[in-house]
Amino acid sequence: MNAAIKKHIQFVLEDDSEVMSAALTGDLDDENKRMNRALIKRHEAILAKLDNGKTLSQEDLQLIRDANEIHLNDGANLNGHHRQAVKLDRWLDHMMELDKDKAMQILEQWLDRDARTPARVYRALHTLWEEATPNDVVDEDAFDDEGRCFKCGSRVSFADVADTVVFVGDEIVKRYDGDITNRNCVWCNHPKQYSEFAHHDDDGGSSMRANRHQSGARR
Ligand SMILES: [Zn+2]
Repeated sequence: MNAAIKKHIQFVLEDDSEVMSAALTGDLDDENKRMNRALIKRHEAILAKLDNGKTLSQEDLQLIRDANEIHLNDGANLNGHHRQAVKLDRWLDHMMELDKDKAMQILEQWLDRDARTPARVYRALHTLWEEATPNDVVDEDAFDDEGRCFKCGSRVSFADVADTVVFVGDEIVKRYDGDITNRNCVWCNHPKQYSEFAHHDDDGGSSMRANRHQSGARR
């Protein structure tokens, strides 16, 4: 581990512990106080591992990522540690194991940044996704009861409908209406097309545009 990374890990853990221990004297309820104390202990254990040159566990790395987040999100560098936080985040990317869902999410996110990505790349991704979810079940709902996207709150979505048509020669003689498949939030998945439909959302989508930079943040 390089010295600068180690130093920044020590900083984020100590900084986070300081904030949590300050909160202990405030009007936190007992449950939250108990959680803060437990987390401070975990931070101390990680700091001790660093001092002794011991290997950090995946769980340790996740706690470091959590503590680093506030500095990572500090794009205006108000606390003066943004640059180091970005470096630590990249280092964590290399060190932390990636599950299939997370891998899929990263690929989708990067593909959606480039309007020139050919459709076959999305098809390939979809195939991988189906491999990763063998029962064809996505275990998390993407929309709430009112059809609102859980990620961004938008009510606008695109859905594919697969009809089956019966051809006789070149002539269609019968059509069976299909089910809706692949429903995708337009704001999250097709941002370039969103403006066309923005007026269907409550405030014309302005709250989502304002939150654009936080869309990747943990809730
Ligand atoms: Zn969305």
